[in-house]
Amino acid sequence: MRKKMCCNCKKSQCLKLYCECFANKTFCAGCNCVNCLNTEDNRVERDKAMQTTLERNPIAFDPKITHDAYIVCCSVTTHNIPRRTER
Ligand SMILES: [Zn+2]
Ligand SMILES: [Zn+2]
Repeated sequence: MRKKMCCNCKKSQCLKLYCECFANKTFCAGCNCVNCLNTEDNRVERDKAMQTTLERNPIAFDPKITHDAYIVCCSVTTHNIPRRTER
């Protein structure tokens, strides 16, 4: 069931939610990322980054939220906008 993530991070060092691996709480392996810090060797820094992320967004790693924070944001917003049904 576990789909292999493969990110292409260049600047986030894979410690931001932009990184699919990080957002899914998995380590990067075989990704196309540059300067990756989302590795087991870098556990400490990674944990810190996770803490920071959670402080800013307590539901960042909520299982209900898929890896793409942007899509979630957009769909929530769209959902909340009252639809114009009048003609
Ligand atoms: Zn990444
Ligand atoms: Zn990475």
